[in-house]
Amino acid sequence: MIKDDCIFCKIANGKIPTNIVFENEDVMAFEDVAPMMPVHTLIVPKQHYENIADDVPVEVLGKVFAAVKTVAEIKGVKESGFRVVVNTNDDARQSVHHLHIHVLGGAKMNIGDPKA
Ligand code: AMP
Repeated sequence: MIKDDCIFCKIANGKIPTNIVFENEDVMAFEDVAPMMPVHTLIVPKQHYENIADDVPVEVLGKVFAAVKTVAEIKGVKESGFRVVVNTNDDARQSVHHLHIHVLGGAKMNIGDPKA
């Protein structure tokens, strides 16, 4: 399903231009508009799921998480290291309710701060 009023549905399906890092049939990776780190890329499924707790089929989860390594390679952080963050619902301050993975890296992080 694609949700008409979802910004990440629009980005993932080419309705809004973005800075694409990687794309295949099922997944889009693009640069976060407000990067918290030198590398801050988002990976989303092209189909709409609210978050990781939204009965996401395991095949979709596999495709989204498989893109992490590809993005890390493209962005040059596979060897230096990176952090993967999946904010889910209000306590985690999920602000865009379309499943997305943050890939953060490019500098040494503070321990315990998932977006530092
Ligand atoms: P979260 O707080 O986990 O829901 O993260 C949502 C992320 O999406 C934030 O880091 C935003 O900066 C980012 N974001 C929101 N709108 C856009 C957009 N149009 N293009 C790229 N990134 C976006």
